[in-house]
Amino acid sequence: MKTIKHFLLTGVVMLLAISYASAKKPINGVIITGQNNHNWPVSHQAIKMTLENSGLFRIDVALSPKQGEDMKNFSVDFSKYKFVVLDYNGDSWSADMNAAFMDYVRRGGGVVVYHAADNSFTDWQEYNEMIALGGWGGRNETSGPYFYWKDGALQADDSPGNGGSHGFRHEYLLNCRASSHPITRGLPSQWKHASDELYDRMRGPGGIKDLLYTAFSSPEQRGSGREEPLIFTLKHGKGRVFHIMIGHCGDTLDDNPAMQCTGFQTLLLRGSEWCATGKVKQAVPKDFPTAEKVSLRPKYRP
Ligand SMILES: [Zn+2]
Repeated sequence: MKTIKHFLLTGVVMLLAISYASAKKPINGVIITGQNNHNWPVSHQAIKMTLENSGLFRIDVALSPKQGEDMKNFSVDFSKYKFVVLDYNGDSWSADMNAAFMDYVRRGGGVVVYHAADNSFTDWQEYNEMIALGGWGGRNETSGPYFYWKDGALQADDSPGNGGSHGFRHEYLLNCRASSHPITRGLPSQWKHASDELYDRMRGPGGIKDLLYTAFSSPEQRGSGREEPLIFTLKHGKGRVFHIMIGHCGDTLDDNPAMQCTGFQTLLLRGSEWCATGKVKQAVPKDFPTAEKVSLRPKYRP
C-alpha cells in the first residue's frame, strides 16, 4: 500500500514538474532586420525588449547584409523558431532564403509582419499573398485592390493609383472588428493609440482571415477619409500570419511613442503568441489604454 502511495505521489510530483517547466519555457522567435527605410537599429531592439521582458519569449536577431551587399550568404535556420518577426524593408533575399522562408511558413511557422515590412518585396508574389496588403515600392492597381471597412464589412476598390500613404502622425482610435478572436479577447472595443502614422490606401491580394482592428484615416490629418484595416491575421498554408501596420519607430528608444504605447506592445505580445502557438494565454493588462486615454510603457516592460 505504502509503495503504491509512494508511486502515485512521485507521479504527481513529476507531472507538476513537467507542467511547471513547460509553462515557464519561453517561445523561441527571431527578428529579421538590417535594412529598412525606417530606424531598424531602434525598432528591432524595442521589439526584442517588449517580447523578452514579458518572460514569454526568447528572441534572436538575424541581421541582413547592408543595402547593396551580396545576399548570397544570408540565411536563417528557421527550424529553431516558432515564429519570425519581419522588421525588414530592403533588398531581395537570395532565391534559397526566399524558398526556405516560404517553406517554413507553409509548414506551420508563425510570422509577425511589422509596420514597413509590408513595404518590402513588391515583386515577390507569394510574399504579397502572405501579407495581404502592402504599400509603396511601386505598388499600384496591378498589386490588387484597395481595401477599407464600410457597412460592417471589408470593401475592395480596384480603382487605379499608388498603394500606401499616410498623413500626419497623431493619436487615434483603434476600433475592434473581431472581439472573440484569441488576440483581442477581453480588450476594449476602442482604444486610443499614442502618436503614430496611420497607414492608408494599402492594396494587395487581400486574403485577410480575421480583421482585428481598423482606424479612421481623417482627412484633417491628410488621411484617406476611410476606415483603414491596420491589424489582421491570415493563414498561409499551415502558417499563421499576424500583420500589424502600426508602430512607426521614433529616433531613440526613449523617444518612440508609437512603440512605447501599451496597446502596441500588448498586440505585439498577443499576436506573437498566437502566431507561434495558435493560442493566447496572456491576461488583459491593467494599464491597457482606454478610448479616452493613451497608455505608455516607456521601458518596454509591464
Ligand atoms: Zn513608418
